[in-house]
Amino acid sequence: MNRRNFLKTTALGLAFAASPISLSATDTATKPTSRSGRLNLSFQPYELKLRHAFNLARNQRTSTPGVQVQIEYDGVVGYGEASMPPYLGESVESVCKFLSSLDLGQFTDPFRIEDIHAYMESVAPNNRAAKASVDIALHDLTGKIMGQPWYKIWGLNPDNAPCTSYTISYDANPAEMKAKIEETAPYRVIKVKMGVGHDKETVEALRKVRPDVPICVDANQGWANKKHALEMCKWLADRNCMFVEQPMPKEMISETAWLRERSPLPLIADEFLQRLPDVRRAYEAYDGINIKLMKSTGMHEAYQMATLARALGMKVMLGCMTETSCAVTAAAQLSPLVNWADLDGNLLIANDRFKGIEIVDGKVIIPDTPGIGVTLL
Ligand code: MG
Repeated sequence: MNRRNFLKTTALGLAFAASPISLSATDTATKPTSRSGRLNLSFQPYELKLRHAFNLARNQRTSTPGVQVQIEYDGVVGYGEASMPPYLGESVESVCKFLSSLDLGQFTDPFRIEDIHAYMESVAPNNRAAKASVDIALHDLTGKIMGQPWYKIWGLNPDNAPCTSYTISYDANPAEMKAKIEETAPYRVIKVKMGVGHDKETVEALRKVRPDVPICVDANQGWANKKHALEMCKWLADRNCMFVEQPMPKEMISETAWLRERSPLPLIADEFLQRLPDVRRAYEAYDGINIKLMKSTGMHEAYQMATLARALGMKVMLGCMTETSCAVTAAAQLSPLVNWADLDGNLLIANDRFKGIEIVDGKVIIPDTPGIGVTLL
Protein backbone atom coordinates (compact mmCIF):
# COMPACT_ATOMS: atom_id res chain seq x y z
CA MET A 1 0.00 0.00 0.00
CA ASN A 2 1.11 3.53 -0.66
CA ARG A 3 0.91 4.73 2.93
CA ARG A 4 1.21 8.43 2.12
CA ASN A 5 -1.74 8.36 -0.32
CA PHE A 6 -3.78 6.27 2.09
CA LEU A 7 -3.23 8.79 4.90
CA LYS A 8 -4.09 11.67 2.59
CA THR A 9 -7.36 10.15 1.37
CA THR A 10 -8.20 9.00 4.88
CA ALA A 11 -7.94 12.59 6.11
CA LEU A 12 -10.35 13.56 3.34
CA GLY A 13 -12.63 10.71 4.30
CA LEU A 14 -13.01 11.91 7.89
CA ALA A 15 -15.32 14.60 6.58
CA PHE A 16 -17.70 11.89 5.30
CA ALA A 17 -17.27 8.89 7.50
CA ALA A 18 -19.72 8.31 10.30
CA SER A 19 -17.14 5.97 11.77
CA PRO A 20 -13.81 6.41 9.99
CA ILE A 21 -11.49 3.47 9.51
CA SER A 22 -8.51 3.49 11.86
CA LEU A 23 -5.32 4.85 10.32
CA SER A 24 -3.50 1.84 11.68
CA ALA A 25 -6.08 -0.58 10.31
CA THR A 26 -4.79 -4.13 10.37
CA ASP A 27 -6.41 -7.39 9.48
CA THR A 28 -7.83 -8.49 12.81
CA ALA A 29 -9.34 -11.72 11.54
CA THR A 30 -7.10 -13.72 13.84
CA LYS A 31 -6.72 -11.08 16.56
CA PRO A 32 -10.07 -10.34 18.21
CA THR A 33 -9.99 -6.88 19.78
CA SER A 34 -13.55 -6.42 20.95
CA ARG A 35 -16.73 -8.37 21.61
CA SER A 36 -19.44 -5.97 20.54
CA GLY A 37 -21.83 -8.59 19.12
CA ARG A 38 -22.95 -5.98 16.61
CA LEU A 39 -21.96 -4.96 13.10
CA ASN A 40 -19.76 -1.85 13.02
CA LEU A 41 -19.53 -0.17 9.62
CA SER A 42 -16.76 2.29 8.75
CA PHE A 43 -15.67 3.73 5.41
CA GLN A 44 -13.50 6.30 3.68
CA PRO A 45 -12.97 7.70 0.17
CA TYR A 46 -9.92 6.22 -1.53
CA GLU A 47 -8.64 7.69 -4.77
CA LEU A 48 -7.28 5.02 -7.11
CA LYS A 49 -4.17 6.14 -9.00
CA LEU A 50 -4.04 4.78 -12.54
CA ARG A 51 -0.84 3.15 -13.77
CA HIS A 52 -1.43 4.62 -17.23
CA ALA A 53 -3.44 7.79 -17.83
CA PHE A 54 -6.70 7.29 -19.74
CA ASN A 55 -6.68 9.50 -22.82
CA LEU A 56 -10.19 10.82 -23.33
CA ALA A 57 -11.41 13.06 -26.13
CA ARG A 58 -11.10 16.28 -24.13
CA ASN A 59 -8.87 15.48 -21.19
CA GLN A 60 -6.65 12.94 -19.51
CA ARG A 61 -7.69 10.98 -16.44
CA THR A 62 -5.01 9.83 -13.98
CA SER A 63 -7.18 8.64 -11.10
CA THR A 64 -10.63 7.24 -10.38
CA PRO A 65 -12.72 7.65 -7.21
CA GLY A 66 -13.57 4.81 -4.83
CA VAL A 67 -14.73 4.17 -1.27
CA GLN A 68 -13.17 1.57 1.03
CA VAL A 69 -15.41 -0.13 3.60
CA GLN A 70 -14.90 -2.22 6.73
CA ILE A 71 -17.42 -4.12 8.84
CA GLU A 72 -16.18 -5.27 12.23
CA TYR A 73 -17.94 -7.93 14.29
CA ASP A 74 -16.52 -9.41 17.49
CA GLY A 75 -13.01 -8.36 16.50
CA VAL A 76 -13.18 -9.86 13.00
CA VAL A 77 -12.94 -7.38 10.10
CA GLY A 78 -14.50 -7.81 6.66
CA TYR A 79 -13.36 -5.58 3.79
CA GLY A 80 -15.47 -4.15 1.01
CA GLU A 81 -15.24 -1.53 -1.68
CA ALA A 82 -17.37 0.68 -3.92
CA SER A 83 -16.04 1.83 -7.29
CA MET A 84 -18.03 4.35 -9.26
CA PRO A 85 -17.64 4.72 -13.03
CA PRO A 86 -19.48 7.95 -13.94
CA TYR A 87 -21.96 6.23 -16.30
CA LEU A 88 -23.57 4.36 -13.39
CA GLY A 89 -24.47 7.61 -11.62
CA GLU A 90 -22.84 7.10 -8.22
CA SER A 91 -20.11 9.28 -6.69
CA VAL A 92 -17.97 9.43 -3.54
CA GLU A 93 -20.57 11.82 -2.12
CA SER A 94 -23.57 9.60 -2.91
CA VAL A 95 -21.85 6.44 -1.60
CA CYS A 96 -20.77 8.15 1.65
CA LYS A 97 -24.24 9.65 2.08
CA PHE A 98 -25.89 6.23 1.64
CA LEU A 99 -23.44 4.46 3.98
CA SER A 100 -23.89 7.24 6.60
CA SER A 101 -27.64 6.62 6.51
CA LEU A 102 -27.29 2.92 7.39
CA ASP A 103 -27.71 1.61 10.92
CA LEU A 104 -26.03 -1.81 10.74
CA GLY A 105 -25.67 -1.74 14.54
CA GLN A 106 -29.24 -3.07 14.70
CA PHE A 107 -27.96 -6.40 13.32
CA THR A 108 -26.36 -8.89 15.69
CA ASP A 109 -25.79 -11.68 13.13
CA PRO A 110 -23.54 -11.01 10.10
CA PHE A 111 -24.91 -14.14 8.38
CA ARG A 112 -28.29 -12.41 7.84
CA ILE A 113 -27.07 -11.15 4.45
CA GLU A 114 -30.52 -11.44 2.87
CA ASP A 115 -32.11 -9.40 5.69
CA ILE A 116 -29.39 -6.76 5.45
CA HIS A 117 -29.98 -6.45 1.69
CA ALA A 118 -33.72 -6.03 2.30
CA TYR A 119 -32.93 -3.36 4.88
CA MET A 120 -30.60 -1.52 2.46
CA GLU A 121 -33.34 -1.59 -0.23
CA SER A 122 -35.76 -0.08 2.30
CA VAL A 123 -33.32 2.77 3.03
CA ALA A 124 -33.00 3.90 -0.62
CA PRO A 125 -33.33 2.45 -4.15
CA ASN A 126 -30.39 2.31 -6.58
CA ASN A 127 -27.02 3.05 -4.83
CA ARG A 128 -25.83 -0.29 -6.21
CA ALA A 129 -22.08 0.23 -5.69
CA ALA A 130 -22.68 1.45 -2.13
CA LYS A 131 -24.77 -1.67 -1.43
CA ALA A 132 -22.10 -3.84 -3.08
CA SER A 133 -19.45 -2.45 -0.71
CA VAL A 134 -21.49 -3.59 2.30
CA ASP A 135 -22.29 -6.96 0.68
CA ILE A 136 -18.62 -7.65 -0.11
CA ALA A 137 -17.55 -6.74 3.44
CA LEU A 138 -20.27 -9.07 4.85
CA HIS A 139 -19.08 -11.95 2.65
CA ASP A 140 -15.49 -11.31 3.74
CA LEU A 141 -16.55 -11.22 7.38
CA THR A 142 -18.75 -14.34 7.30
CA GLY A 143 -16.21 -16.29 5.24
CA LYS A 144 -13.54 -15.46 7.82
CA ILE A 145 -15.84 -16.55 10.66
CA MET A 146 -16.43 -19.86 8.82
CA GLY A 147 -12.71 -20.09 8.02
CA GLN A 148 -13.32 -20.69 4.28
CA PRO A 149 -13.17 -18.75 1.01
CA TRP A 150 -16.52 -18.25 -0.71
CA TYR A 151 -15.76 -20.42 -3.75
CA LYS A 152 -15.52 -23.35 -1.30
CA ILE A 153 -18.66 -22.33 0.58
CA TRP A 154 -20.47 -22.30 -2.78
CA GLY A 155 -18.97 -25.72 -3.61
CA LEU A 156 -17.08 -24.51 -6.69
CA ASN A 157 -13.93 -26.00 -8.20
CA PRO A 158 -11.21 -23.33 -8.60
CA ASP A 159 -9.70 -25.31 -11.50
CA ASN A 160 -12.79 -24.28 -13.48
CA ALA A 161 -11.93 -20.58 -13.19
CA PRO A 162 -11.43 -19.23 -16.72
CA CYS A 163 -8.61 -17.16 -18.16
CA THR A 164 -9.12 -13.43 -17.72
CA SER A 165 -9.17 -11.13 -20.70
CA TYR A 166 -6.91 -8.11 -20.87
CA THR A 167 -8.39 -4.96 -22.39
CA ILE A 168 -6.85 -2.73 -25.03
CA SER A 169 -8.25 0.20 -26.99
CA TYR A 170 -7.22 2.13 -30.09
CA ASP A 171 -4.41 4.68 -29.90
CA ALA A 172 -3.72 7.03 -32.80
CA ASN A 173 -0.02 7.05 -31.95
CA PRO A 174 1.50 3.94 -33.65
CA ALA A 175 4.24 3.62 -30.98
CA GLU A 176 1.62 3.71 -28.20
CA MET A 177 -0.52 1.16 -30.06
CA LYS A 178 2.51 -1.13 -30.45
CA ALA A 179 3.30 -0.78 -26.72
CA LYS A 180 -0.32 -1.61 -25.81
CA ILE A 181 -0.23 -4.76 -27.94
CA GLU A 182 3.11 -5.82 -26.42
CA GLU A 183 1.54 -5.51 -22.95
CA THR A 184 -0.97 -8.21 -23.91
CA ALA A 185 1.78 -10.86 -24.12
CA PRO A 186 1.07 -12.55 -20.73
CA TYR A 187 -2.65 -12.92 -21.48
CA ARG A 188 -4.44 -15.68 -23.37
CA VAL A 189 -7.64 -13.72 -24.13
CA ILE A 190 -7.71 -10.10 -25.31
CA LYS A 191 -10.69 -7.76 -25.10
CA VAL A 192 -10.83 -4.97 -27.67
CA LYS A 193 -12.86 -1.83 -26.96
CA MET A 194 -14.81 -0.68 -30.03
CA GLY A 195 -17.58 1.67 -31.03
CA VAL A 196 -15.57 4.90 -31.02
CA GLY A 197 -14.11 4.63 -34.52
CA HIS A 198 -11.00 2.81 -35.79
CA ASP A 199 -12.72 -0.45 -34.82
CA LYS A 200 -11.15 -2.59 -37.52
CA GLU A 201 -7.66 -1.06 -37.17
CA THR A 202 -7.33 -2.27 -33.57
CA VAL A 203 -8.23 -5.88 -34.44
CA GLU A 204 -6.00 -5.84 -37.51
CA ALA A 205 -3.03 -4.46 -35.52
CA LEU A 206 -3.53 -7.11 -32.85
CA ARG A 207 -3.96 -9.97 -35.35
CA LYS A 208 -0.63 -9.06 -37.02
CA VAL A 209 1.22 -9.67 -33.73
CA ARG A 210 -1.00 -12.38 -32.23
CA PRO A 211 -2.72 -14.26 -35.07
CA ASP A 212 -4.32 -16.94 -32.90
CA VAL A 213 -5.18 -15.30 -29.56
CA PRO A 214 -8.92 -15.42 -28.74
CA ILE A 215 -10.38 -11.91 -29.04
CA CYS A 216 -13.58 -10.68 -27.46
CA VAL A 217 -15.08 -7.36 -28.45
CA ASP A 218 -16.85 -4.72 -26.36
CA ALA A 219 -18.71 -2.22 -28.54
CA ASN A 220 -19.98 -0.28 -25.50
CA GLN A 221 -23.34 0.49 -27.26
CA GLY A 222 -21.38 2.03 -30.13
CA TRP A 223 -23.24 0.62 -33.15
CA ALA A 224 -26.59 2.36 -33.47
CA ASN A 225 -27.33 1.00 -36.99
CA LYS A 226 -28.36 -2.66 -36.96
CA LYS A 227 -27.08 -3.36 -40.48
CA HIS A 228 -23.68 -1.88 -39.60
CA ALA A 229 -23.71 -3.95 -36.37
CA LEU A 230 -24.39 -7.13 -38.38
CA GLU A 231 -21.64 -6.27 -40.85
CA MET A 232 -19.21 -5.80 -37.93
CA CYS A 233 -20.26 -9.09 -36.29
CA LYS A 234 -19.62 -10.96 -39.55
CA TRP A 235 -16.27 -9.18 -40.06
CA LEU A 236 -15.21 -10.07 -36.51
CA ALA A 237 -16.33 -13.70 -36.89
CA ASP A 238 -14.12 -13.97 -39.98
CA ARG A 239 -11.21 -12.87 -37.77
CA ASN A 240 -11.86 -15.57 -35.19
CA CYS A 241 -13.38 -13.34 -32.50
CA MET A 242 -15.46 -15.02 -29.78
CA PHE A 243 -18.38 -12.70 -28.93
CA VAL A 244 -19.55 -9.10 -28.95
CA GLU A 245 -20.48 -7.30 -25.75
CA GLN A 246 -23.23 -4.65 -25.88
CA PRO A 247 -23.15 -4.08 -29.65
CA MET A 248 -26.07 -1.63 -29.76
CA PRO A 249 -27.49 1.05 -27.43
CA LYS A 250 -29.22 -0.64 -24.50
CA GLU A 251 -32.62 0.88 -25.41
CA MET A 252 -32.58 -0.79 -28.88
CA ILE A 253 -33.97 -4.11 -27.70
CA SER A 254 -35.89 -5.19 -30.82
CA GLU A 255 -32.94 -4.21 -33.04
CA THR A 256 -30.61 -6.25 -30.82
CA ALA A 257 -32.98 -9.22 -31.05
CA TRP A 258 -32.93 -8.79 -34.86
CA LEU A 259 -29.13 -8.78 -34.75
CA ARG A 260 -29.03 -11.90 -32.58
CA GLU A 261 -31.08 -13.84 -35.14
CA ARG A 262 -28.43 -13.09 -37.78
CA SER A 263 -25.11 -12.65 -35.96
CA PRO A 264 -22.56 -15.48 -36.22
CA LEU A 265 -21.18 -14.35 -32.83
CA PRO A 266 -22.97 -14.47 -29.44
CA LEU A 267 -24.18 -11.11 -28.10
CA ILE A 268 -23.52 -10.33 -24.44
CA ALA A 269 -25.51 -7.74 -22.43
CA ASP A 270 -23.52 -5.34 -20.27
CA GLU A 271 -24.94 -1.81 -20.00
CA PHE A 272 -28.39 -3.35 -20.68
CA LEU A 273 -28.54 -5.15 -17.38
CA GLN A 274 -27.86 -4.45 -13.74
CA ARG A 275 -29.63 -6.86 -11.39
CA LEU A 276 -31.42 -10.22 -11.12
CA PRO A 277 -34.77 -9.27 -12.78
CA ASP A 278 -32.82 -7.93 -15.78
CA VAL A 279 -31.51 -11.43 -16.60
CA ARG A 280 -34.98 -12.51 -17.81
CA ARG A 281 -35.26 -9.33 -19.92
CA ALA A 282 -31.79 -9.95 -21.40
CA TYR A 283 -32.89 -13.46 -22.43
CA GLU A 284 -35.19 -11.87 -25.04
CA ALA A 285 -32.39 -10.21 -27.02
CA TYR A 286 -28.98 -11.49 -25.91
CA ASP A 287 -27.10 -14.79 -25.71
CA GLY A 288 -25.38 -13.96 -22.43
CA ILE A 289 -24.85 -11.45 -19.62
CA ASN A 290 -21.91 -9.61 -18.10
CA ILE A 291 -22.22 -9.60 -14.30
CA LYS A 292 -20.37 -6.94 -12.29
CA LEU A 293 -20.56 -6.65 -8.51
CA MET A 294 -20.99 -2.86 -8.68
CA LYS A 295 -24.15 -3.34 -10.76
CA SER A 296 -25.57 -6.39 -8.97
CA THR A 297 -25.29 -4.93 -5.41
CA GLY A 298 -22.56 -7.46 -4.65
CA MET A 299 -21.87 -11.20 -4.44
CA HIS A 300 -25.23 -12.35 -3.06
CA GLU A 301 -27.25 -11.29 -6.10
CA ALA A 302 -24.38 -11.92 -8.55
CA TYR A 303 -24.46 -15.62 -7.58
CA GLN A 304 -28.24 -15.70 -8.19
CA MET A 305 -27.81 -13.97 -11.57
CA ALA A 306 -25.17 -16.47 -12.70
CA THR A 307 -27.37 -19.38 -11.60
CA LEU A 308 -30.46 -18.05 -13.38
CA ALA A 309 -28.56 -17.25 -16.58
CA ARG A 310 -27.08 -20.76 -16.68
CA ALA A 311 -30.52 -22.26 -16.10
CA LEU A 312 -31.79 -20.26 -19.09
CA GLY A 313 -28.95 -21.62 -21.22
CA MET A 314 -27.22 -18.24 -21.44
CA LYS A 315 -23.50 -17.55 -21.43
CA VAL A 316 -22.10 -15.78 -18.36
CA MET A 317 -19.29 -13.29 -18.24
CA LEU A 318 -17.87 -11.78 -15.07
CA GLY A 319 -16.52 -8.24 -15.22
CA CYS A 320 -15.27 -5.53 -12.90
CA MET A 321 -14.59 -1.82 -12.72
CA THR A 322 -11.28 -0.07 -12.08
CA GLU A 323 -10.94 -1.12 -8.44
CA THR A 324 -8.51 -2.59 -5.90
CA SER A 325 -7.91 -6.32 -5.46
CA CYS A 326 -10.68 -6.22 -2.82
CA ALA A 327 -13.66 -6.11 -5.21
CA VAL A 328 -11.84 -7.96 -8.02
CA THR A 329 -10.96 -10.90 -5.72
CA ALA A 330 -14.54 -10.93 -4.38
CA ALA A 331 -15.77 -11.29 -7.98
CA ALA A 332 -13.18 -13.99 -8.64
CA GLN A 333 -14.88 -16.22 -6.05
CA LEU A 334 -17.69 -16.65 -8.61
CA SER A 335 -15.39 -17.22 -11.56
CA PRO A 336 -15.65 -21.06 -11.68
CA LEU A 337 -19.35 -20.53 -12.56
CA VAL A 338 -18.75 -18.41 -15.66
CA ASN A 339 -17.70 -18.86 -19.29
CA TRP A 340 -15.51 -15.77 -19.50
CA ALA A 341 -13.83 -13.47 -16.97
CA ASP A 342 -12.74 -9.89 -17.42
CA LEU A 343 -11.04 -9.32 -14.08
CA ASP A 344 -8.20 -6.93 -14.84
CA GLY A 345 -9.40 -3.84 -12.91
CA ASN A 346 -6.79 -4.14 -10.17
CA LEU A 347 -3.98 -4.38 -12.73
CA LEU A 348 -4.76 -0.84 -13.85
CA ILE A 349 -4.04 0.85 -10.52
CA ALA A 350 -0.78 1.79 -8.80
CA ASN A 351 -1.96 2.02 -5.17
CA ASP A 352 -3.69 -1.30 -4.45
CA ARG A 353 -4.37 -1.79 -0.71
CA PHE A 354 -4.74 -5.57 -0.94
CA LYS A 355 -3.14 -8.79 -2.05
CA GLY A 356 -5.64 -11.24 -3.53
CA ILE A 357 -6.42 -12.59 -7.00
CA GLU A 358 -3.44 -13.58 -9.12
CA ILE A 359 -3.26 -14.14 -12.84
CA VAL A 360 -0.88 -16.97 -13.70
CA ASP A 361 -0.31 -17.75 -17.38
CA GLY A 362 -3.48 -15.76 -18.09
CA LYS A 363 -5.65 -17.85 -15.73
CA VAL A 364 -7.54 -16.56 -12.67
CA ILE A 365 -6.07 -18.00 -9.46
CA ILE A 366 -8.42 -17.60 -6.48
CA PRO A 367 -6.51 -17.39 -3.18
CA ASP A 368 -7.19 -20.18 -0.69
CA THR A 369 -7.76 -17.56 2.03
CA PRO A 370 -10.95 -17.26 4.15
CA GLY A 371 -13.60 -14.71 3.16
CA ILE A 372 -13.19 -12.95 -0.18
CA GLY A 373 -9.51 -13.97 -0.19
CA VAL A 374 -7.67 -10.70 0.43
CA THR A 375 -5.05 -9.51 2.92
CA LEU A 376 -4.12 -5.88 3.56
CA LEU A 377 -0.77 -4.83 2.12
MG1 MG B 1 -18.66 -3.74 -21.27
